Amino acid sequence: MNNWIDYAQIKVEVRFKAVFEYYNLQFTIKGREIVCACPLPLHAGDRDNNNAFHVSLEKNCFNCFTHCGGGNIIDFIQHMENLSFDDDGFRKAALFLQEHFLADNSSQNPTDEEKPDKKKQEAPLVNKPLTFSLENRLKYDHPWMIQEKGFSLELVKKFGIGWCKTGLMAGRIVYPVHNTKGELVAYIGRALTQKDENQRGKYLVPSQFHKHLELWNFHRIREKKKLLRDFGLIVVEGFNDALRLIDQGFENVVALMGCSMSDEQERMILSVTDKIVLFLDNNEAGNEGTKSIHKRLIHRAFVKVIQYPENSDKIQPEDFTKDELIELFEQNKTGDQDGQ
Ligand SMILES: [Zn+2]
Repeated sequence: MNNWIDYAQIKVEVRFKAVFEYYNLQFTIKGREIVCACPLPLHAGDRDNNNAFHVSLEKNCFNCFTHCGGGNIIDFIQHMENLSFDDDGFRKAALFLQEHFLADNSSQNPTDEEKPDKKKQEAPLVNKPLTFSLENRLKYDHPWMIQEKGFSLELVKKFGIGWCKTGLMAGRIVYPVHNTKGELVAYIGRALTQKDENQRGKYLVPSQFHKHLELWNFHRIREKKKLLRDFGLIVVEGFNDALRLIDQGFENVVALMGCSMSDEQERMILSVTDKIVLFLDNNEAGNEGTKSIHKRLIHRAFVKVIQYPENSDKIQPEDFTKDELIELFEQNKTGDQDGQ
């Protein structure tokens, strides 16, 4: 690791805007300033005050007008990464910035002729773990999940799903998404009103998040080898479909977060099982998705496609009760393994 640090260069060249984007923070730019709610972990004041935190774009310095005080970009990282406020913490924060934001400049090897552009292309695309959590800012007992969808408070709490009061996801139900290692990498927000859906879409996905790299619930089931061996892996489209199945005792489920399967998702699925149960939505998009996924997996695994009951008014897994699910799986047990 390169331990040489140019503090002056970091203070000037690493810009708050890039660091804010790295942390997925919502902000507005007013004139020569970034203005937003205070993102600092120590902040004890009103988290909803979207005017509390100011960054001077000229000076590359921040100030929280409530309690936290101000500082430069290195100080900011000491706060955000919970580092100590001494020389050691300052050094670690600077190193963090250098590695994350000045990587191309930090190469001290004169024989390294690799072009930065080429290097960038070759770096594998990953979702960076979030450095914040909405855990304490969510309302878990929102009627949409509890009354309308019929999930228990215990279940939604266990999966960290709740209604978000503030920030980018305000007014939406947010679903935490983890990578294969179980690190939190994003929150996806579902609209609850038609107006919000029309304006920002039914599902709001943070711009830096690559949905195709993850499978929802994968990190929880990947080690359950016996369950996967005996019953295979059920693949559904949405969060609530997966939750419904989990709630009814079918833990071996992942959600694609859509009706298509990426190459990465395919690799993840095949890495844990060779028995796959496709249970996508019973509509045009779902049927198309099922066909295409089936075609890709059929030569590499046993694939079962769940057939909805004839003349059924149910369009997605979340519409089934426990007894109906058991009956459906029972009915689908017999018949062609190819699901044709
Ligand atoms: Zn503050």
